[in-house]
Amino acid sequence: MGEVNIHPIVSPWGRFGLYTFFIDAEQPAIVDTGIASSPAEGMAPALAELGRRLEDVRWILLTHGHIDHIGGAHALWEATGRRAQVVIHEADAPLLRSRQAHVDDYLAGRGQYLNDPDGAAKVTAAADAVISGEMEPTLLVRGGETLSLGGGTEISVHSIPGHTPGSVAYVVEGQNSVFVGDAVQVHGAANGFPGYTDPDAYRDSLAYLRETIRPEKLYLGHPYRRADGTPYGVELDRDQAAEALRDSVDIEGGVRDAVHRCLCHGLLDTDSAYAPFTPVADELGYTGDPTLEPSPFFTTLHGYRTQFSHKYR
Ligand SMILES: [Zn+2]
Repeated sequence: MGEVNIHPIVSPWGRFGLYTFFIDAEQPAIVDTGIASSPAEGMAPALAELGRRLEDVRWILLTHGHIDHIGGAHALWEATGRRAQVVIHEADAPLLRSRQAHVDDYLAGRGQYLNDPDGAAKVTAAADAVISGEMEPTLLVRGGETLSLGGGTEISVHSIPGHTPGSVAYVVEGQNSVFVGDAVQVHGAANGFPGYTDPDAYRDSLAYLRETIRPEKLYLGHPYRRADGTPYGVELDRDQAAEALRDSVDIEGGVRDAVHRCLCHGLLDTDSAYAPFTPVADELGYTGDPTLEPSPFFTTLHGYRTQFSHKYR
C-alpha cells in the first residue's frame, strides 16, 4: 500500500499557532485538537478543502493534556456524533477529565514563582474559555499499543514523558511519520525557553526519539525556534528532525548545567523577575518575559529544582 497522506491544519490563538494534523486514512484521524473554537473555525474549513468532513473523523489522537492540544477534543468528538475514539495517555487523562486539573498543575509548579495573586483565577478563566468540555477518554494508552486505522494503516503509541508526564508519540508504521506534540522543544515556542516538567525524562525521551524512532518525518505542535530565532516549520524532514532532536538535547544540557550551578550556590530571592533563578537567566542570556503564560522558564526550572533536591538531599 502507498503512504497515507498527512495534512497540517493551523488554528490561530493569540500569539500562538495551534497545529492539528489530519491523517487521511480509511478511518480518518486528527492529531491534537487546538482549543474550543478550532474544530469549527480551523479544522472544518480545512477538511472541506480536502474534500473530507469533520464528522467522518474516527480517531482523536491527543499527544498530551495541555489546553491548546485538548481544548477542542470534546467539540470535535461531538461533531463526530461521539463516534470517534478519543485517545490519551493515562498520566495526562486528568487534564482531559477536569478543567480544575490545569489549575492544580499551575499551583503545584510555575504558580509558586509568579507572585500573581490572580494567577489561579486567570488559569481558571483560560481553562473555562478554551476547553470545549470535560470528558472521559474512550481509550487510555501507556505506550506500546498499536492502533489500526483501516486499509492497512497502523499507528504505534510510544511513551515520551518530560514535557508532561503523559506525552506520547504517535508513529505511522511503514512510513515512520512521527507526531510528538510539544515533546521536542528546541528553544521553545512563543516564550523562547524550552518547557518540560521532568528534565530527566525529557532528556531520555529525546534520546529515544533520536536513536530508536529516528523519524522520517517529524510533526511538531508549534513552530519551535532555532538558536538564531528562526522557526522550524511544523513538518520536518529526516535531516531537520535529526537537527531539532540534536539541538533539543544540547539546549537541555546547557540549561541543566546552568541550573545545577545555581542550585549548588543556593537560591536567592531578589526583585528580579527571574528570581530565584536569576543566575540561570543571566548565564543562558535568556531575556524573555518569564511570567508570560505558560511560563516555561519557571515550569522547567521548578522541574530541575525538584529532581535536584531528590538527588542530593
Ligand atoms: Zn504542551
